[in-house]
Amino acid sequence: MELNELQKKILKLKQEKNALLLVHNYQIPEIQVIADLLGDSLELCRAAQKVEDIDMIVFCGVDFMAETAAILNPDKKVIIPSVKAVCPMAAMLSMDTLMEAKKQHPEAPVVLYVNTLAEAKAEATITCTSANADKIVRSLNAEKVIFGPDKNLGYYVQKRVPGVELVYVPDDGHCYVHRFIGNGDEAIKLKKRYPGSEIWAHPECEPEFQERADYVLSTGGMVRRAKETDAEVIIVGTEVGLIDRISRENPSKMFLPAKKYSECSAMKRITLENLYQALVEEKPVVIVPEDISIRARLAIERMLEAS
Ligand code: SF4
Repeated sequence: MELNELQKKILKLKQEKNALLLVHNYQIPEIQVIADLLGDSLELCRAAQKVEDIDMIVFCGVDFMAETAAILNPDKKVIIPSVKAVCPMAAMLSMDTLMEAKKQHPEAPVVLYVNTLAEAKAEATITCTSANADKIVRSLNAEKVIFGPDKNLGYYVQKRVPGVELVYVPDDGHCYVHRFIGNGDEAIKLKKRYPGSEIWAHPECEPEFQERADYVLSTGGMVRRAKETDAEVIIVGTEVGLIDRISRENPSKMFLPAKKYSECSAMKRITLENLYQALVEEKPVVIVPEDISIRARLAIERMLEAS
């Protein structure tokens, strides 16, 4: 992809300001191609943890991801190009719900998906991502675990760690994009049209679709499987931004959305224009209060050590 003038200006400014551009797989392709690191939540967490010799992190993703980068880099300026890039799933877990569950089940460790706000992470025993959720829950060796906010990810974990009881916080937390993909009827129709094709579902997809898919994979797992598979047609059950990336990296294969228009509007709040402006102004800065940051950091670091 040839870079346009704005992309070139962003790259120049990024270099002048010694900034690192971390970009989630669901961002628009024009931003994906100028990333220093393009990845899923876990990969971006790891990258943020290892950051050295830079003056600023520019995070192209949603609020909880930029907060995580700020928590792992308390001495660095972290900016997010749009304060409207707010993940609705992270917002579903209220502190009242979480604290009530902790009161009701004091013996249960709390495993929170990284798709939560910093205040909630500060109350977690450990965080997880869709790439390591089953491993994290298994590693606790607990009979009961408070788990949230994604119930579908909970289903994925429960299947792989059957001995554990999950107490969901909230009752029906979900990602509206993966819920929109539905039960996989469209994917099954596509598979019939393309014999030999594979269906992939993200663990945030509905249980019925997870059961019908050939593989249930995090976006990082999808990036790897895209390279490994011999299938020429792959039906992808996640946010459509990922399809831009894997199509670019695997031009001989065809990737189709499991459901058209499965797009996250929060992720698409970040544009080349507001990214450039954020670099010029060095704001909006992501601020996490120190007492919350210190406790949330422990939960994130436990996850990074365990995975
Ligand atoms: S895709 Fe879903 S979980 Fe991810 S940022 Fe959008 S709403 Fe949140």
